[in-house]
Amino acid sequence: MAIHDFIKGAIDIGKAMGVSLKALRQKPVTIEYPRDAAPLYPRFRGRHELRRYENGLERCIGCMLCEAACPTGAIYVEAAENDPEHPTSPGERYAKVYEINLLRCVFCGDCEEACPTEAIVLGHEFAMANYSRRDLILTKEQLLNPPEPHVIIRPE
Ligand code: SF4
Ligand code: SF4
Repeated sequence: MAIHDFIKGAIDIGKAMGVSLKALRQKPVTIEYPRDAAPLYPRFRGRHELRRYENGLERCIGCMLCEAACPTGAIYVEAAENDPEHPTSPGERYAKVYEINLLRCVFCGDCEEACPTEAIVLGHEFAMANYSRRDLILTKEQLLNPPEPHVIIRPE
């Protein structure tokens, strides 16, 4: 081996060791999920939620625009007339049945875009694994009462 090959090899090893030593000072990029919360960007699109107004009325007026906008047919809405004495939503109608099939959803956000009352939104929950296919169809009750997501929102 020529002397210059030896020197070049030693320099390359030195450079590689430098990279390794630099990495030793850095914090790990992996996280101990689920023990530690997973950091997400604010616009992350996760599990859907149905929102209410501050007075408790449901935002959803059963217009079915989200159902029409969904490219995969993941949403099913059945509307009913509001009882004027005890309305469920401020509109004439409300969603008597509202279901989202997570097995079909591609989390595109089109339903959120189409909704005129900002009733349906994609939240930050991403842990949606389940053992039963039926449990992956979210009911209105589940959508109105979403679980707290185990995440940290990091700046974009
Ligand atoms: S996020 Fe997209 S695919 Fe999922 S329910 Fe909404 S419109 Fe349908
Ligand atoms: S969630 Fe929005 S778009 Fe869908 S039915 Fe309710 S009001 Fe209409």
